Amino acid sequence: MSLADEPLVCSAKGCRRAAVRAVVWRNPRLHDETRRKVWLACEEHTSTLHEHLSVRGFPVRLAELDAIPPEGHPWA
Ligand SMILES: [Zn+2]
Repeated sequence: MSLADEPLVCSAKGCRRAAVRAVVWRNPRLHDETRRKVWLACEEHTSTLHEHLSVRGFPVRLAELDAIPPEGHPWA
């Protein structure tokens, strides 16, 4: 099974659209420096999810779907 066979669906609640971006983030209170959490985002929710995390002061960045850091892969 290859990764390309897995449909990547947006992580926003109730959204079933195809993901176009990855939102890579970390909660410094829960995760050490090497940990990364990854949410997948459709076009519409990329900014919503990014905003949701950045207002909490979490380190967050956007990544292309083929550039998700392996330590944060949602399917790893
Ligand atoms: Zn979405």
